[in-house]
Amino acid sequence: MKFLYLLPIAFYLLPITFGCQPRVLHKDKQVMMGTFVEVLSPDKDAAAIVFSEIRRVELLLSKYNPESEISRLNKTGKLKASPEIFFILKECERFWKLSAGAFDVSVGPLVDLWGFTTKEYYCPKEAGIREALRLTGFNNIIFNNKDNMIKFKVRGMRIDLGAIAKGYAVDCAVTKLREKGIKSCLINSGGQIHCLGDKFGEPWRVAIKEPRSNRAADGLKLIDKAVSTSGDYEQFFIKGNKRYHHIINPHTGYPADSGILSVTVIADTGLIADALSTSIFILGKVEGLKMAKKIQGVDVRIIEENPD
Ligand code: AMP
Ligand code: MG
Repeated sequence: MKFLYLLPIAFYLLPITFGCQPRVLHKDKQVMMGTFVEVLSPDKDAAAIVFSEIRRVELLLSKYNPESEISRLNKTGKLKASPEIFFILKECERFWKLSAGAFDVSVGPLVDLWGFTTKEYYCPKEAGIREALRLTGFNNIIFNNKDNMIKFKVRGMRIDLGAIAKGYAVDCAVTKLREKGIKSCLINSGGQIHCLGDKFGEPWRVAIKEPRSNRAADGLKLIDKAVSTSGDYEQFFIKGNKRYHHIINPHTGYPADSGILSVTVIADTGLIADALSTSIFILGKVEGLKMAKKIQGVDVRIIEENPD
């Protein structure tokens, strides 16, 4: 009998709870940092805020922009850095140490040599690798904490922030959104994702791509988290049946060969997720997970070539 009373009440309540607030998700997309940046938010102003902040960070960090501080450092071997660039390079130093040298943003000469900068891919000769390795090594960067001066010890060294720039850029965009009081937004910058708040009271849903197909390998439900994936399918070429990809082991000069096809890191900030996913990809499962344990609040999903 009680059920008969409840039923009509429930019917009256349904249009009230679902009817008065239309659940509109605004979507927008722009090409930035060499990829599509996609923004989803119930707030129609979110996309413009995200695009303008990501554009600002891109101009600051890109080696493709001849005016950026990074380009000036690469050209002259020294720079009186802005506090922001100094902070980012110090974070790069932190991850270089944590990863025992696997994460090394001084891999610029190697990334160039393999053709990943121009997309004119090329299998280099041993002598070329040796010469590029001579120009690689974070230990050859001198930091002066007093006046923010950064200097290269070896002429011809070049920094490439491709492994951390997108994560940092998305963090900056999230800070701007928070400042403007926007509480719900999903940013996807070419696989570098941030889930700000929730989506109409539910977690945001993010799929992890299966590396050799377009299917989803796994699904994540996230609130206030950053996600980054490093994979051998993102930039690669095939020569003689072998795949050569864009994540270089700075100890060997060759694309990392750790048995990992893709690694996804979920963390509180994009910078941590981005730097850690690249590091684990190079280190491999065992050493990579040891490194992840040293950082608080991270979750790691690895897809291996030969899962055990
Ligand atoms: P991600 O997709 O975040 O793993 O970053 C890959 C990009 O980082 C490459 O396209 C290069 O620009 C750069 N990179 C390659 N190898 C390394 C490395 N060992 N350490 C830091 N950055 C790297
Ligand atoms: Mg990365």
